[in-house]
Amino acid sequence: MKAIIIFLFCSCLLACTLTPEEPYGTSWNIHFLDIGQGLSVLFESNGKFALYDTGPDSVHFERILKSFGIDTLEWIVLSHLHRDHVGGFLEISQDSADFFIKHVFWNKDSSQYWLLDSIQKLLSIKEIPNSSLYKGEKIQFEGNSLNTLWPVPEKQLTENASSIVLHLKSGNESLLLTGDIEKEEEKNLLEFYPTLNASLFQVPHHGAETSSSLKFLETLQIQFAVVSNAKKNPYGHPAKETLKKLEAAIGQAENIFRTDTLGSICFTWEFNVGIWRCQ
Ligand SMILES: [Zn+2]
Repeated sequence: MKAIIIFLFCSCLLACTLTPEEPYGTSWNIHFLDIGQGLSVLFESNGKFALYDTGPDSVHFERILKSFGIDTLEWIVLSHLHRDHVGGFLEISQDSADFFIKHVFWNKDSSQYWLLDSIQKLLSIKEIPNSSLYKGEKIQFEGNSLNTLWPVPEKQLTENASSIVLHLKSGNESLLLTGDIEKEEEKNLLEFYPTLNASLFQVPHHGAETSSSLKFLETLQIQFAVVSNAKKNPYGHPAKETLKKLEAAIGQAENIFRTDTLGSICFTWEFNVGIWRCQ
């Protein structure tokens, strides 16, 4: 009898402490793919997949995705129209690549006209549903929804500054994907969200010194930071200054992960339990 009462008490406690947005037992793998100089983050859960950016072209992105057994993508977010973020999309949306892409989120207010035109044509030929993504909108993936924090539609922005920023918070953990935003947009984000946090953090713009202000990094309470860049890239990414600031904000250099030295890096997020590096 005592055991039954304890069981009922624990069940009630669990049910009362979880909101519908925090599903117990759900987990995602979040892969920062080794795609050279660029960015591509692959979400994986229950055999389903979605992408935030697709890396540059000419890195055999199709082969990388096929190595995960992927034939369908729930959605792709193209953070902004620079080649190091959308080049892979041009490859995997060709007929020969044979992927079923259910939806593409991207913003068309870009001055990268050649890419804008190429992507528009591919979306139209392949009849891929697509829409814009602005501050306040959400996208769903396997039991959770990512919030769009940036950009705001009415603002005139440079290409990097227009990057779509996604955030997911569940329990004590959170994820922040920043594309190539720079210090000005970081400042804007902190004005909108003064207590913004990021247990798992994609370092903006491949660690360039024009991003990652110390105030931004310190506010986020980062547990793990990931820099995506190629070995010996011509831009000098990541900047030494950025690495120093990351180390100061996180408190330990071993929690800064770089795709140029480690290759693809995977984290498991078991919601309401924690985030850790995949085994
Ligand atoms: Zn970039």
